[in-house]
Amino acid sequence: MEKRTFLKTGLFLGIAAAGSSFLQACKTAAKVGTPPIVPMPPPKSLRSGPFTLPPLGYDTGALEPHIDKMTMEIHHDKHHNAYVTNLNDAVKDTVYAAYELEDIMARISTSDVDKKIRNNGGGHWNHTFFWQTIAPGGSEMPSGNLGAAIDAAFGSHDKFKEQFAAAAKSVFGSGWAWLCVGPDKKLFISATPNQDNPLMTNVVKQLGTPLIGLDVWEHAYYLKYQNKRPDYITAFNNLINWKVVADRYNKATI
Ligand code: MN
Repeated sequence: MEKRTFLKTGLFLGIAAAGSSFLQACKTAAKVGTPPIVPMPPPKSLRSGPFTLPPLGYDTGALEPHIDKMTMEIHHDKHHNAYVTNLNDAVKDTVYAAYELEDIMARISTSDVDKKIRNNGGGHWNHTFFWQTIAPGGSEMPSGNLGAAIDAAFGSHDKFKEQFAAAAKSVFGSGWAWLCVGPDKKLFISATPNQDNPLMTNVVKQLGTPLIGLDVWEHAYYLKYQNKRPDYITAFNNLINWKVVADRYNKATI
């Protein structure tokens, strides 16, 4: 037996020997220490119907050659659609049943009970945001307020691209890379696992308003790029709709 295991076993036996009064004391302590259930604050807005899959806004083949048609068809029509279906199923008979998506993001917890809503609600929000972040042909790099903010935060637009790509490459397994505006109105880059996002108050380390989100799940690029995630990240740079990103920045910093 290893020393550590021996010590642990010894400790356990010691506790067991102390009898049920000790265990009872533990249970009582746990009860006293359990925080009261805080009633959920009312949502900002309520939803009248089920969540629906939004249209892409462009043809599935319109992002060629950067993102191929088949990937877009499967990504939007199958993956995103599944998040919507599963989210509708998950919120049924819960407090979130009539909440708008943003209200769900702000209130979702890390508990197992919320896991399906967190994963599929995040999946729905993130993909809706992603389709709007890119556009056929992309657009000119930003000037104006956003251009100045990028220079101030990262040194230059090229340095921003480097740092954003590094964050996207660093995601282990499935997740997202983000450019956000923080509560202090400053830009920051972050990454989240799975379908988490920077709007999830009770989940993420760094809360912010997303300006850019890059899906680095393998389903987003594997058909065309296989294991070459860096090539997909470079391709994404050619598709960013900077006009949309600048609008988001201006709204978030009013
Ligand atoms: Mn995806």
